[in-house]
Amino acid sequence: MKNNKLLFKTVAEYFEKIENTSSRNEKTKYLSELFEVANRDEIDILIYLSLGRISPMYEKTDFNIGVKTIINIYSKVASIESKDVKSKYQEIGDIGEVFESIYRNSVGDPLSINNVFNILKKITQIKGKDSVDNKSNVLIDLYKKITPIEGKYISRIVVGDLRLGFSDKTILDAISFVLNGNKKDRKLIEKLYFQCSDLGMVAKISIFEKDLIDKVYIIPGIPLFAKLVDRPKSLGDIFNRFKKVFVQPKYDGMRCQIHIFQGKVKLFSRNLDDITEMYPDIVNLFGEFPVNTAILDSEIIGVDSDNKFLTFQNTSQRKRKYNIDQKVADIPVNIFIFDLIYLNGESFINISLDKRLEKLKDVFQYINIKNLFISETKLVSDIDTLNKIFRKYIELGFEGVVVKNPHSLYTPGVRNVDWLKIKKDSYVGIVDTIDAVIIGYYYGRGVRSKFGIGAVLAGIYNKKEDRFESICKIGTGFKDNDLVFLKKKLDEIKSDEVPDQYFVNKNLYPDVWVEPKYVIVVKSDEISRSKVHTAGINKKNTIGYALRFPRFINFRDDKGIYDITSLSEIEIYGEKWK
Ligand code: ATP
Repeated sequence: MKNNKLLFKTVAEYFEKIENTSSRNEKTKYLSELFEVANRDEIDILIYLSLGRISPMYEKTDFNIGVKTIINIYSKVASIESKDVKSKYQEIGDIGEVFESIYRNSVGDPLSINNVFNILKKITQIKGKDSVDNKSNVLIDLYKKITPIEGKYISRIVVGDLRLGFSDKTILDAISFVLNGNKKDRKLIEKLYFQCSDLGMVAKISIFEKDLIDKVYIIPGIPLFAKLVDRPKSLGDIFNRFKKVFVQPKYDGMRCQIHIFQGKVKLFSRNLDDITEMYPDIVNLFGEFPVNTAILDSEIIGVDSDNKFLTFQNTSQRKRKYNIDQKVADIPVNIFIFDLIYLNGESFINISLDKRLEKLKDVFQYINIKNLFISETKLVSDIDTLNKIFRKYIELGFEGVVVKNPHSLYTPGVRNVDWLKIKKDSYVGIVDTIDAVIIGYYYGRGVRSKFGIGAVLAGIYNKKEDRFESICKIGTGFKDNDLVFLKKKLDEIKSDEVPDQYFVNKNLYPDVWVEPKYVIVVKSDEISRSKVHTAGINKKNTIGYALRFPRFINFRDDKGIYDITSLSEIEIYGEKWK
């Protein structure tokens, strides 16, 4: 079978089967059957066509032909009045099916997918004054040679509405089915796809060069999927996982993958769209770049006349197809390079981030290009320093920080704990210390039993409700003499009842309640949301704030109980994970 040319009619018949089932499994099965009959020179074309395209996703497929033009074309091909074709279209609602309903002829030799592909490609290349007429003439010729079912799908491709109801992911499954009749190799194929977003090439390698599937395919000019950024569960979690992390500012701009190759520069967006034409200023920056080939990961961010960062909304105004020169003048941009993916013939995706950044520095050390920067990267090993850097960057106008595992590889398309974002709107900061009042205490266990006190329950003040709400149970940081002092002093102000001004969850009731009197300074790693503590709980909100890893620092005799940290301060400082 593979020696014969794959006919577009066969493809169209499969398209119809795929369209007529809503089962993803069946769609996958039909696709794999279809892929199996394609030979080496057809498979990439088949993949593009089955996605309604004549090129990989990152290259534009612009037919610039609307339904109106197709209606006129049909009218000529089938010798029917335009208005009748139009009313058929209004009745059916699908330009493909309209062709089937008005055109029943089938003449000439069936066309191969290569023929159809070349004709479609030719149409996209027709430009200029009479382009609509010239494109129409090519299509009229084509329609006269084909069967109704072929016309149905060609028309849909041309107007950009193929409607087969599957995505690139289904194609990955189908390729796996071609290889061994199941989805077993899907992950392997996906890995290849994430490196090389040309799905036609992925299918060709997977099916015809099986032994090469697991090789690295980073090809300048073909965008790879961007490595993605996750959110940490909590800041503590970061240092539970990594001893040291790199911290970079988080730019609130647009992701940009820069490809420098064969004397050209190409730019791709987060979604792998080719955005080169929208940023001629950036392309110029790389004009004199002293490397042969490189792929860099970066963020573009607009700046005002004082070189202050613009908001994301304003930067994104640059993403325009028209009046580009004006936009370049109105919205100058800075570009921050934060990763190196490829350099002079060598892929860096399997090299650890610390080494990638070192190399990046090497490359850039002699380069001084206005508006082009290498991202500042700091090595950090504790929460306090991370907090300070985070705050500094916020003050400088960044969106937050991105925390990265120095050993992380550049895994395209993958979102995991290796890169974590901390944004100012989802996380407002860590209070170094808070002042809290002691609400009660718990008897000590183990070595602490001899003191009769092991931990205290502490609260902050909610001004609006005029009450003290618990925020932490704290047993760490007390020296023996602190415990002795506390036991003595707290017993003097014991209360048999829950004092009126306390709002505490039953699960946290202390062994001994005390009147609000003693203010203590508590340090914590961060503020997190909690189901047991009542700080910040109101009718709408059933989750309160709590201090994570609270430690006693010292007593605050100089503070009255109403001067302690208030709920509103906690709300400002508290993290509100989105
Ligand atoms: P997604 O993670 O799906 O891209 P998103 O579009 O909402 O989600 P953000 O929440 O803004 O993105 O965070 C991730 C983005 O942050 C990255 O895609 C990148 O564009 C940007 N970014 C800014 N600074 C950096 C940096 N130093 N390192 C990596 N990415 C950065």
